Amino acid sequence: MQNSKQHKKRREAGLEKQVLVYAIAKFKKLVLSLKKRKGMKEIMTVYYMEAKSARVGGRKVAWITSGGPVEPLIAMDVIPVYPENHGAMIGASKMGTNLCERSEAMGYSSDLCSYARADIACATVNGGPIGGLPRPDMLVCCNNICGTVLKWYEVQARYFNVPLFILDTPFCHKGFAGETRAYVRRQLDEYIVFLEQACGKKFDYERLADVGRLSLEGQRLWQAVLDTTANRPAPMSAFDAFYHLALIVTLRGTEEVIVYYQQLLAKMKDRVARGIGAVQGEKYRLLWDNIPIWPRTRWLFNKFASHQACLVADTYTSAWCGTMQYIDENNFLDSMAEAYTRIYLNIGVDEMARKVIEMVDKYQADGIVMHSNRSCKPYSFGQYEIARIVERERGIPSLIIEADMVDERMFSESQVENRIDAFMEIVKAGK
Ligand code: SF4
Repeated sequence: MQNSKQHKKRREAGLEKQVLVYAIAKFKKLVLSLKKRKGMKEIMTVYYMEAKSARVGGRKVAWITSGGPVEPLIAMDVIPVYPENHGAMIGASKMGTNLCERSEAMGYSSDLCSYARADIACATVNGGPIGGLPRPDMLVCCNNICGTVLKWYEVQARYFNVPLFILDTPFCHKGFAGETRAYVRRQLDEYIVFLEQACGKKFDYERLADVGRLSLEGQRLWQAVLDTTANRPAPMSAFDAFYHLALIVTLRGTEEVIVYYQQLLAKMKDRVARGIGAVQGEKYRLLWDNIPIWPRTRWLFNKFASHQACLVADTYTSAWCGTMQYIDENNFLDSMAEAYTRIYLNIGVDEMARKVIEMVDKYQADGIVMHSNRSCKPYSFGQYEIARIVERERGIPSLIIEADMVDERMFSESQVENRIDAFMEIVKAGK
């Protein structure tokens, strides 16, 4: 009797193992077939599938803030996962309001960033468009984008009971002080020690140099793609850029990014050569400021297109190639200190305005559309001042739309529609 029970157990265990081996083989086959196709959807599907099954492949997962130094993770073969990118997906799939409400029921204020609210709620229910993010083995938080991420990542480090590394990048009101460089550079060494401990292996400096070169090349290509919109008509709009941005954020430092943007660049050049614009009969060219209103991107594109206006560029997607001039590809590690500190959200309003004016000139913008984003205070603070400076220097008008990137409760369609119509009358009169 005892023997037959043991036999049955062994048979069941053997069966389970066979099922598992079969499932893994099927999974690998699926990943391989998706990898052969090079579209955004396939690349992102494979990326999330690999991240979700990281343990099967013996790899680790790190959650990292959108402006965080990802290259050391890639060099250590750690899969980086971006809760903010996930937040954008939640917003675009219109699941944000529900998750924000859920976090508010957990006690988080509705004044908090909706990426943070959505992510904190999502982690508890494995919700959202992809059934939650893969569980992290560690968290990496860089405060070059805001202070919210510090508390958000502390909450998640406690929830998942995993180590958290914080990279502190002082705000750069003007220029870049030598003390700041030394301070951030020292922390990069601490980051490497943290990764060695978390991964249980030595850091590979040569690999980091290679990843750094790929990262820079990816940024150059992304900038070249964005630059194609300086043509009239613009072959793509900022709304397309919001979509294509995902790879330079999530897979920066890999070959895949290079291949994807090379193909995209060729496609955009072809559209330019054939005079194909994103907006039919493009007459007015506008600049977008701040994070997109994810659930409303299509509506906004159509609304502006109905006025023959194309949002040709934006401060958001260009932020992922905005500090290339500080990167030394022959000394990537050292140059990371400056490149990761002087990003758009970590500089003073005057410098921000200067960057916006450069974009207005480069893309020949007739006006600026600013999303005053209730969630993202560091991005929205200073917009009135920037609008005033640009108007004074270039004589073009600005529109400020009050909304939120994820939480649809903050969006009033009729109000925004009226404001866009009124703004477009001013733009048309100014041409
Ligand atoms: S407050 Fe802004 S920068 Fe900070 S996490 Fe939210 S969206 Fe990102």
